[in-house]
Amino acid sequence: MEFQNKTVIVTGSTQGIGREIALKFGAEGANVVVNGIDIPLQKELAESACAEIRENGGKAEYMLCDVSKPEETDALIKFALEKFEKIDVIVNNAGITRDNLIMRMSESDWDSVLAVNLKGAFNVIKSAARTLTKQRSGVIINMASVSGVMGNAGQANYSASKAGLIGLTKSVAKELAARNIRCNAVAPGFIQTAMTDKLKEDIKETYLASIPLKRFGQVEDIANLVLFLAGDKAKYITGQVINVDGGLVM
Ligand code: NAP
Repeated sequence: MEFQNKTVIVTGSTQGIGREIALKFGAEGANVVVNGIDIPLQKELAESACAEIRENGGKAEYMLCDVSKPEETDALIKFALEKFEKIDVIVNNAGITRDNLIMRMSESDWDSVLAVNLKGAFNVIKSAARTLTKQRSGVIINMASVSGVMGNAGQANYSASKAGLIGLTKSVAKELAARNIRCNAVAPGFIQTAMTDKLKEDIKETYLASIPLKRFGQVEDIANLVLFLAGDKAKYITGQVINVDGGLVM
């Protein structure tokens, strides 16, 4: 029960990687704030994630809000403090894709990906910064991507957002280190979730051929690293980007 009574906010945790991270923290005794965007199906997904966390010994509450809107991330942090009194870990996991070749990429597809993936993390960190600095403790983990490390054809918006997230991670790590706040990024390769299920089979085959371990990653591969980075065993690690990608980036 490494995270007993620790409060953990995981954005975009109604499904996929975020859900697995939320469940794993819950199984380690954490107070978990589950989040997803406020659209009809999400309420059921958020409730089911919270129910599973409670069954496994954690505490859980959910708040549906859009991380791209600063007033909503302010409300998310306020909600977490009202429910659990402090914030120990923030996982900026919410992310979207709107893939297209750059010649065909619309301005709105560029803007919406940057707004959720990059500005969303900025918003959450800014909303929580005063609380974390007052506490003189906290861990922030940003979900980047190998696309942000090496680029990816058809993902100019997504790669730019994730590369930006890496810059944000390093700057926040430097800025808040004196207050005992760590900030790291995780860069997943190809992980099997709803986000990657929608890719065409030939694209999946091309990715698979370039992965040295010759298989796609699973959500627990990412969650395991996130829990390590959030815990005391990683207390001297900050400002790092760690790839979890079957050897794709070397
Ligand atoms: P996913 O299954 O699509 O889940 C994304 C989550 O984010 C969902 O809960 C989604 O809610 C939520 N979300 C989207 N926009 C949001 C917003 N504006 N505010 C709050 N929540 C929002 O994706 P995933 O594959 O688990 O990916 C999770 C993270 O890992 C993302 O940042 C992604 O870029 C990153 N990543 C994934 C892979 C991969 O191979 N899967 C690889 C590299 C990086 P809705 O369901 O309502 O959209």
